[in-house]
Amino acid sequence: MVLGGLECGGTKMVCAIGDENGRIIEKQTIPTEKPEITMPLIINYFKAYPIMAMGVASFGPIDLQRKSPTYGHITSSTKVHWRNFDLLGELKKEFDIPFGFDTDVNGAILGEVTYGSMKGILNGVYMTVGTGIGIGVYSNGALVHGMLHPEGGHVPVKRHPEDTFYGNCVYHGDCLEGMASGSALNERLGIAPEKVGMDNPVWKYESFYLAQAIIGYILTLSPEKIVLGGGVMNRRELFPMIRAEVERLMGGYLHTYQLDHIEDYIIPSSLGGDQGVMGCMKLAYDAAVSS
Ligand code: ZN
Repeated sequence: MVLGGLECGGTKMVCAIGDENGRIIEKQTIPTEKPEITMPLIINYFKAYPIMAMGVASFGPIDLQRKSPTYGHITSSTKVHWRNFDLLGELKKEFDIPFGFDTDVNGAILGEVTYGSMKGILNGVYMTVGTGIGIGVYSNGALVHGMLHPEGGHVPVKRHPEDTFYGNCVYHGDCLEGMASGSALNERLGIAPEKVGMDNPVWKYESFYLAQAIIGYILTLSPEKIVLGGGVMNRRELFPMIRAEVERLMGGYLHTYQLDHIEDYIIPSSLGGDQGVMGCMKLAYDAAVSS
């Protein structure tokens, strides 16, 4: 089955053609500019293929309530040009096919549980640490939506005693995203974080904040695996630091097989950056078979 996948990010849109086995046949990246510029490029890309369904996974917040008049819209996004934009509606005007729609991070975790390192598990958390921070949650074998969808990037964190950065979340200041996102790292360092060595104390703070959030997810959601993705996590040296902080902050409270094998519990994505579009293939397939 020829399927379309669209992963909408704050800086780029990934358009892909693939199938229900998670195979990506063709892929193109389009910069995220204003909708008037970006949407025609996306539509043109997909018009060239005989797609039978499309999966869309978008940055948020987005409206996922099917009965809502604004279902499929991007809502109170920090990306002002996309605020209140009817993303799904604009695509449906052009393509008379079934659509699956979810958050970018739910798309990524769906990719992992269907095709990647979370295959076979029923409870997991995917956290992306990029320009922003978001989490996708898979619970008892299904994506968690609820009132809206999880927004675990904005959880409160305890400040590191040596850290004087004010926190750049426009809503909360020093929430997790305000302290540890890629944009927070850029702002606190004044240069791209990739250019900063591991001896800089910023990585100690970064691990401290991410570990606090991860402990919150472990204690409330009991995930069997936690996958960390996003541009910041390409810095692989962070993984052992985060695992060590999780162990330290957990204080020996829980003893489980997973926590005793933490190097297999808190892990990088196994799909080489394609977890999002592969999740879109699954969203598209599910939409096709249920239509
Ligand atoms: Zn926030």
